[in-house]
Amino acid sequence: MEGSYAQRCPSCDNDSMPTTQTEYDVEHFGTVLLTVAVCQRCGYRHTDVMNLSGRQPTALTAKIGSLEDLNIRVIKSGTATVSIPEFKATITPGPHSEGYISNVESILLKIEDALTFMLSTVKGERLRKGEAMLKKMQKARNSNPKFTLVIKDPLGNSAIISPNSRKVKKRRLTRLELQKIKYGQYAPIAPAA
Ligand SMILES: [Zn+2]
Repeated sequence: MEGSYAQRCPSCDNDSMPTTQTEYDVEHFGTVLLTVAVCQRCGYRHTDVMNLSGRQPTALTAKIGSLEDLNIRVIKSGTATVSIPEFKATITPGPHSEGYISNVESILLKIEDALTFMLSTVKGERLRKGEAMLKKMQKARNSNPKFTLVIKDPLGNSAIISPNSRKVKKRRLTRLELQKIKYGQYAPIAPAA
């Protein structure tokens, strides 16, 4: 199913930014709504994903242990916080944070890009440590992936989808986690326990 409408561009205020919504059935997950908006006037672009089946504040954890695991499909929404503890890396969503359907490898690349950008602004010890971490990540991506991918999404629009169901652990975010995480205040009300 596909539909489109116009909305206001947050960048240039053009009020007729075409926005397209497409529904996808994702195996082992459910139905996902992908929204893509592109401003014809200033080039602003924004995408996000929404899970249309059973949303809950969710923490997802995948143990990545082989090059093959880098192909594991990831649905990351605009409200999700992504982290890799082994690389001390966390990407916190901003107000216009993007959502996308992708895989583990491209998330790793995004983190490397963010780190590379960050390193252009630091010096000395921090630069040295950051460069060592970047090398570690590149090595993991090219030959020896061994890390944990964690996605915390207070609105439950994200997923890590592996054909091996033991690979991915899924649990509900705790109340404390929701208080600490960005957008946690928008989490759906927990069912009475
Ligand atoms: Zn615009």
